[in-house]
Amino acid sequence: MKSFPGVSGLVFNEELLSTQSSRGVSGISVPDAGFDDKHKKKKAEDYIGEKFIRKNDPELPEVSEPAVVRHFTRLSQWNICVDSAFYPLGSCTMKYNPKINEAAGSFDNIKNTHPLTPVKLTQPLLKILYDFDKILCALTGLDNFTLIPQAGAAGEFTGMKIIGKYFDIKKNEKRDKVLIPDSSHGTNPASSRIAGFIPVEVKTSGRGYIEPEELKKHLDGSVAALMITNPNTFGIFEKNIKELSELLHDNGSLLYMDGANFNAFIGNCGISGMGVDIIHLNLHKTFSTPHGGGGPGSGPVGVKKFLSKFLPVPYVKKENGLYVLKEDKEHTIGKIASFYGNFAVILKAYTYILSIGRQDISKVSEIAILNANYIKKRLQTAYKGSDPFPDELCMHECVFNDKELQLNGISTLELAKLLIDYGFHPPTVYFPKNIHGAIMIEPTETESLDTMDNFISVMVKIKTASKNSAIKAPKKTKVGRVNEVLANKKPVFR
Ligand SMILES: *Cc1c(COP(=O)(O)O)cnc(C)c1O
Repeated sequence: MKSFPGVSGLVFNEELLSTQSSRGVSGISVPDAGFDDKHKKKKAEDYIGEKFIRKNDPELPEVSEPAVVRHFTRLSQWNICVDSAFYPLGSCTMKYNPKINEAAGSFDNIKNTHPLTPVKLTQPLLKILYDFDKILCALTGLDNFTLIPQAGAAGEFTGMKIIGKYFDIKKNEKRDKVLIPDSSHGTNPASSRIAGFIPVEVKTSGRGYIEPEELKKHLDGSVAALMITNPNTFGIFEKNIKELSELLHDNGSLLYMDGANFNAFIGNCGISGMGVDIIHLNLHKTFSTPHGGGGPGSGPVGVKKFLSKFLPVPYVKKENGLYVLKEDKEHTIGKIASFYGNFAVILKAYTYILSIGRQDISKVSEIAILNANYIKKRLQTAYKGSDPFPDELCMHECVFNDKELQLNGISTLELAKLLIDYGFHPPTVYFPKNIHGAIMIEPTETESLDTMDNFISVMVKIKTASKNSAIKAPKKTKVGRVNEVLANKKPVFR
């Protein structure tokens, strides 16, 4: 066993690695650098015994390339995807992601790099991690990021662990409550609970955000933090955030921001200036990664300086002109995932940001907000009584309730299914849960006026659809209406 220069704690078994490119053990390629010749010459037989070595190639079924291409192309067409249609799935930021970012994420010399490759050979990759931390700091005004968490929820968990450690070490205090608005994403109470806190619900006002008076009711010596989503899941900016942060800080508590909705803020808002102590971002939403069905993701956590020492390890440091991986933080919360995060997703985000540039990146948010408000205003006519916040401007998404639909006897679910027959992916439905029959529309910045006008005219048409057609939708898809309760309780995967 031997450790890599500059990497403490990471060790590898040279003998095992040197067999991996030999016959019989395939699929993993290992860089040659740093291995002794004597190890290279050993064969698989020397390790696992002659009798286990395959004499002939395995007989795998073979199909022609066109057959494979047709099979997967056909399967892809059974779904509505962002490459084929408008995908206004609120809260998910299903924007069109430039293909060049995919290309960057799949460069051979990047995707084939083994995580244990010596740092001397991975300097450009470490530089990307190092620089990306700085880029996120510039976009948020915070002081340090860890890029390791591999999803938004993993970022939340990491952030909550950091807050826990802060109170343990710094204050020697036992604070066990985390306040969470009633409009929060389901992952917020879940991740704070898993990290050892008791989630306590805070009510939003009728105007769709948290009022200082409401927060005050909950503040006492047991409150570790408020975990607030901004803009929140109603698509509304938390107007009192600065005041909320002051109340929290006076109480010795911290402000955690769920930054999954950062598509509304890029380059336009200083997160640090809002009084936020700690945040997670969802790179896969804001900064270009086609995601869905649970991945792939990246949920970097950013902190103000006083929390830096609790960030997870390893982290990239520049030392004598060399980028190295360090684990020497005394008060770190430790490791929260293997290696350095979901590198391909980080790289796509890095490419995305650099290709747009610091100057123009704020336009992403400006157009996303403009599009959402265009849809909100235009739908207010047909869905007049259905906008729960008619007097508020929205940020990157807008929410309607089902009041107008109900007048015609149509449910939110039926609206969603009808939209599929018109070639649109449905918006997010029945979330946030405190908006009755919620319909949550996030157009993103990548949609044209034409697309949105089409969508709006279909939404207007659907409002007066016949109940009979609503019950039967979708009719144009490979799979029609499924029994969703049954599908959840007894899923059939084949
Ligand atoms: C998507 C989202 C999350 C969770 O992110 P994952 O990457 O799916 O774990 C958390 N909060 C908000 C507001 C979100 O929109």
